[in-house]
Amino acid sequence: MTSINGWAAQGAKQRLEPFTYEAGPLGAEEVEVAVEYCGLCHSDLSIINNDWGLSRYPLIPGHEVIGRIVAVGDRAKELKIGQRVGIGWNVDSCMHCHECLTGNHNLCREAAPTIIGHHGGFAERVRAHWLWAIPLPGTLEASSAGPLLCGGVTVFAPLLTYGVKPTDRVGIVGIGGLGHLALQFARAWGCEVTAFTSDLSKAEETRGFGAHRVVSSRNSAEVLKMANSLDFLMITVNVPLDWPLLLKTLKPNGRMHVVGAVLEPMAIPAFDLIMGQKSVSGSPTGGPAVIAAMLDFAARHHLAPQVEHFPLNKVNDAIAHLAAGKARYRVVLDHAGSF
Ligand SMILES: [Zn+2]
Ligand SMILES: [Zn+2]
Repeated sequence: MTSINGWAAQGAKQRLEPFTYEAGPLGAEEVEVAVEYCGLCHSDLSIINNDWGLSRYPLIPGHEVIGRIVAVGDRAKELKIGQRVGIGWNVDSCMHCHECLTGNHNLCREAAPTIIGHHGGFAERVRAHWLWAIPLPGTLEASSAGPLLCGGVTVFAPLLTYGVKPTDRVGIVGIGGLGHLALQFARAWGCEVTAFTSDLSKAEETRGFGAHRVVSSRNSAEVLKMANSLDFLMITVNVPLDWPLLLKTLKPNGRMHVVGAVLEPMAIPAFDLIMGQKSVSGSPTGGPAVIAAMLDFAARHHLAPQVEHFPLNKVNDAIAHLAAGKARYRVVLDHAGSF
């Protein structure tokens, strides 16, 4: 048996404590990764707190893993010992359903999240099906790349899925962990980019991430000045907003796309959708091919999450920092010297 040391929550809303589990024999199609860095994502908080009712304890969070392959199963493909990879929200999927066969593995009904019923990356090692361990381009800075594996692909995938064009005008609502990445991707994509934020003190930094324009999301009159101007509006916050007001910023055929996990039902006026032929949609992270394309795009355009580092043994401080809304803009845990 193989013991793996990590930091686990024993129940909902509990502090993480040192924890060791027996991982058993490595699966034939699995790889094992020695974790160097792991991002702390807002979804880790949601799972620790069982906000979505899906959590299983004890649980080791961490689904923005950067590390090196240390073991390869007999039937694993492509990956070599020592190779640096990233692992995101999922570690497995069925590989034979329609979604898996068409590259949408993240939509597989049997997709296995890294931190639900499986131990994640706040540990010395983590395992995944080889397809879900994505090789990291050598030119990406490993110490800040972790948040690309969940946050990055979450905001990148919709640009591909919905065919956003370089000539499009794109709005990003919420300039936090997801939003600051969405601004960078949309700008590098070639779009005209408008940031909507409740905190105008971030305006200068927001322009630095790629926004051509910054609008106060608390000021309805300012938002209304954007009426009928955007092709694509990405919602990255997880709190209810004035959805009818935001829909007005879209041009006919425009799309409002939700990637923030807003728990409250969204009241959407059907008449506005009908008259402007507008759409509202959502999406969860991305499949392995999209993650690889996103990493390649980020490396080519020199895009990177802006991160704050904590040593893994200060993980509870890092969680408190993120929960207090203080993260600028993603948190990464450094594993060196932790075990
Ligand atoms: Zn499948
Ligand atoms: Zn995440």
